[in-house]
Amino acid sequence: MSSEQIAYRGRFAPSPTGPLHFGSLYTAVASFLQARSVGGKWLVRIDDLDPLRCKQVYSTHILKTLEQFGLTWDETIFYQSTRHLAYKTALAELKKDNFLYRCSCSRKELTERRIPNGIYDQHCLNSAAQNIQPHALRIKLPVDRLIFNDQIQGDVKQYLKKDVGDFIVFRKDHVAAYHLAVALDDHEQKITDVLRGYDLLASTPRQIMLQQILGLHTPNYAHIPVISNVEGAKLSKQTFADDVSLSPVKQTLISILAYLNLNPIEGLLDGSVSDILSWGIKHWSLNNIKRQPSILFHSN
Ligand code: GLU
Ligand code: ZN
Repeated sequence: MSSEQIAYRGRFAPSPTGPLHFGSLYTAVASFLQARSVGGKWLVRIDDLDPLRCKQVYSTHILKTLEQFGLTWDETIFYQSTRHLAYKTALAELKKDNFLYRCSCSRKELTERRIPNGIYDQHCLNSAAQNIQPHALRIKLPVDRLIFNDQIQGDVKQYLKKDVGDFIVFRKDHVAAYHLAVALDDHEQKITDVLRGYDLLASTPRQIMLQQILGLHTPNYAHIPVISNVEGAKLSKQTFADDVSLSPVKQTLISILAYLNLNPIEGLLDGSVSDILSWGIKHWSLNNIKRQPSILFHSN
């Protein structure tokens, strides 16, 4: 590696709202293989922003599951729940630069105004009701069109004003919103490459926009197809996907390699967990991943 090249730093960032399921393990394995195949670092961040939905028992359980599957991480685990001050500092900067406004609209009011596609109508932008408590903070979008190149999905273009609207960066319940936290934390952890599920593709322009106005770096992005069930819903805690820690480790890893189009060879099952991962690292290529939103889950 030449000295100018920045060493690869990838990450897996689960939200501890339940045990790890097959779909999230698949994402973890993909980002692990990608990082290891280039001799890079693989970090784990626990996205435990939301105190109501995230539980310490799940963080512990998720980390145990990663270990069980041989996915060993570098450096210390990063917890979003410890970053309140950094988020507040960034919000103060956004406020100073006039990018924020208070929004006191309730969910009911938003529904009553029948905002098309849920795009916020800037009702509170110039309203006298601005000081009503409680309120959220919304970003006044400074740009509309945002384009980036995804390493799997190709060029992605989004019109933020039409497709997203002025989104919330700080919630009424005093929790930083996901997009703000991710932009700041990927920067803080010096992440060079984000490999995650296709379900977050449409969130990426918001994160890049925040990086731009906060003067943060933009990592490379690769969004892999999510694994979905027959109804087309991504496997998630909400679709009651099972706790993967209860599945046979080696078979599960091999099946994930197959979902990643690596054509695992026969006999792989005779090796150890670490043999299976080493085989995966050796054969891993982003080029094997298809440019599509999802792939169908087949049990067995
Ligand atoms: N914590 C997010 C999730 O579990 C992922 C964040 C990210 O990869 O940027 O959906
Ligand atoms: Zn409002």
